[in-house]
Formats: sequence, C-alpha cells, structure tokens
Amino acid sequence: MNEYDSARIADMLKNLNLHRTENSDEADLIILNTCAVREKAAEKLFHQLGRWKSYKETNPKCIFAVGGCVASEEGRKIRSRARTVDIVFGPQTYHRLPEMIERVEKGEGPQIDVSFPQNEKFSRLPANRSNKVSSFVTIMEGCSHFCSYCIVPYTRGSEISRSVDEILDEIKTLRDCGSREINLLGQNVNCYRGVNSDGSICNFPELLYRVHEIDGIDRLKFTTSNPIEFTQELINAFGDLKKITDALHLPVQSGSDRILKLMNRPYTADDYRDIVARLRKVRPEISISSDFIVGFPTETDDDFEDTLKLIRDIRFDNSFSFIYSKRPNTPAASMEDPVPSETKKERLARLQQLVETYTMQYSREMHGTLQEILVEGKAPMGNLLCGKTLNGRTANFEGPDDLIGSLVNVRITEVLPHSLKGEIESSK
Ligand code: SAH
Ligand code: SF4
Repeated sequence: MNEYDSARIADMLKNLNLHRTENSDEADLIILNTCAVREKAAEKLFHQLGRWKSYKETNPKCIFAVGGCVASEEGRKIRSRARTVDIVFGPQTYHRLPEMIERVEKGEGPQIDVSFPQNEKFSRLPANRSNKVSSFVTIMEGCSHFCSYCIVPYTRGSEISRSVDEILDEIKTLRDCGSREINLLGQNVNCYRGVNSDGSICNFPELLYRVHEIDGIDRLKFTTSNPIEFTQELINAFGDLKKITDALHLPVQSGSDRILKLMNRPYTADDYRDIVARLRKVRPEISISSDFIVGFPTETDDDFEDTLKLIRDIRFDNSFSFIYSKRPNTPAASMEDPVPSETKKERLARLQQLVETYTMQYSREMHGTLQEILVEGKAPMGNLLCGKTLNGRTANFEGPDDLIGSLVNVRITEVLPHSLKGEIESSK
C-alpha cells in the first residue's frame, strides 16, 4: 500500500517540476513514507531523521516531510522530537502535499495535516499513469475491522470504497499506458462496497467480473483479502474468471481458535480450511500464501502446534510471518503476555522453516514444466528478461526487449531458492 502511495506522490510531484533523485545529497525535498504495523517503525524514523540532520545545515532550504502511518499515529509529536521536520502528512492527506510545500516555501512554518477527509484524495490526484506492466489500483481505503493487535484502523481511518467508474477508468488509463496486469488494492478487498453509476452497490466479486471484461488486461490479482467475507460468490469467480492468477494471499494469522478469538478475527481454523478446500475445487492449481503472527499474548505451545498443523494441512506456498508487536492503544496491548521472547523467536523460526519446505517443494515440481510468464522487464542483474509465473514466482530467461509486456511460454530449467530460470518456447 505504501508502495502505491509513494508512486502516486512521486507522480503528483512531477507536476511541480520535482524529479526523483537516487542521491539524497542533492535532494531539495526528502519524504519519508512510513509504516506503523509493527513497532520500531517510529524509532527507525527518528534515527533516519537524525542521520539527515546535517543536510539541513548544508542546504537549509531542503524540506523534510514525513508521511504514512507513523505520521498519522504521532502527528504533532514528530515535530517535538525532530525540529528538522517541515511537513507531517497522513495516508489520507498526501494529495495536499503541493499546498503544504508551497506554504513552507513561503515561510509559513511547519505544516501538519493528518486528518481523514473523505473522498477527496482520489479526485485531487493526477491520473494514475504508471507505465509498468503490472500496476496497483486502490479500490478501497482504511479498515473497520479492529483486530485486537492492529493499528491500521486508527492510522488509515475507516473503510471507504471508491466508485466502480473511478476504478474502471483508472484501469483503462493504465492499460493505455502499457499495463497488462492489475493488482486491486485494499486492506480487505473482499469487503468492497462501491457505488455503480446508477447508485446501486457493487460488491467485490461483481467488481472482479467488471474488471475482467476490460480488453488488454491479461492478468488480475488482489491484495489483501480476508477470510472474514470470503463468500462462495468470490470463490466462483476463481472458477469463472481466467484472468485471475493462480496465487492467492489470504492472511490467517493463527491456526488456534482460541488465539483467533483473542485477535478478534471472527473465523475458525476450520472455516479457513473450508474456504481453501472450496477454492481448490474450482481452481486445483491455486497457490495459497498467508500472514502469521507468532507469539500473540498468551499463545501456548498447543496454540502454536495448531498453527503448524494448519500449515501442514494447507501446505502454504509462502508466508509473511512476524513476531507479535505491541501497538499502543490497541486492545491487545493491555493483554498479559507471559511468553518469553526466546520462545517466540524459536516458534517463528520453526514456522518459517516449515513453510519454506513447501515453497521449495512447489518450486521443484515446476522444474521442466512449461509456464506462462508475463514479461515485466529486465532482470536486475545480467542481461535477462524477468517476469512472473501464474503462481507468482519470478522467472528469468533470455529474450529480446520487445517481449516486455507480453505473455510468453517458458520451460523451467533451473529452480533457485527465490526465483526460477528458463527458456522461452513461444510467445503468445
Ligand atoms: N488487512 C490485512 C492485513 C493488514 S496488516 C488482513 O487483515 O489480513 C498486514 C499484516 O501485518 C497482518 O496480516 C499481520 O500479520 C501483520 N500485523 C499487523 N499488526 C501486527 C502486530 N501488531 N504485530 C505483528 N504483526 C502484525
Ligand atoms: Fe488490521 Fe484486521 Fe484491519 Fe487487517 S482486518 S488491517 S489485520 S484491523
């Protein structure tokens, strides 16, 4: 989400004649876009600001701006700890950056705006013209779920869906700029409720069918969905809509029903198993990845074993897993937490090791197979092209640059821990 926000900020600033530099020494404006999901983000922010303090001495006109969820969480307090900061903006006010920059330049002093104006941001941002082969499109913002450990509802505000027309128009513009893959973005995309042009409400599966109709878009993904409203209608979309890729990221957090309850996640591990079983019925090749929180307050060995059992049952393809991090003012922050940090670290290592065995197993099964790849660009190293398989793996292979943006069939010849290598057999 921050990647998307940062890209939109960069687009907007281009209109002010500000261009990105890779060299922070020559910057006239430095923006730190922050994440507050886990603690330490605020500490990292202040350390970084400390390191950059000397820039202000050599270039007093250099403007420092802090955005994102730490800005939203800390607001004015950022200025009291770091006087070098000129602008503090939140995830819902970054469209106001141009005015804020202007006021600082006019000498009107520090600008702080971490409010949540509704439905203002997207109408004020310039059209999203990413020229990437794969582009994000925000379909909803914020979250109204209040899982007991999570800070997002406080920093990004409550759930708001963008209208169907706005989303479809953005996707068509991106397609015209060269995008072939769209990743629909939101905290809980399956809770999407946007208005149609006739005023009726469109739910997430309906939106998928509408996006699927757009010519020139070959692949469709979404991030992040939630087991809470993973309806049969949505599962059916995986059966019907061939452009939806074979990789689904569906965060479960824990395999223990007791912990899920304490987390305020209103489903059980068996509900999750049932969703995955029904998905596999309509899309047997689907690869499932997930988020896990290890060491939630009071998590016992038995609770943790339930999580490992769920992992073995589902055979997750990948995971983003972290040790529980206490976030101020969330309900879980006041829960007793007798679990020693060493135990949490051991559990995390075991969990990651287990998931990795499945990751490698799935990759090895791909050796020798023919895979459809969407060519996204040049590989960062060497003179190879790179792209993604339908199950989300990066593949590198030789080929001419004019294949960028097209679908090719690649025979997988080598399996590496984090990528695949192959040879093109045909382009589509
Ligand atoms: N909306 C998505 C996830 C958003 S946050 C969902 O509900 O699934 C991304 C991930 O960060 C979460 O899935 C969770 O695994 C992790 N996370 C959130 N708060 C956390 C905390 N306090 N400590 C550790 N991990 C956390
Ligand atoms: Fe956080 Fe829960 Fe909302 Fe996801 S659904 S963003 S974990 S509160």
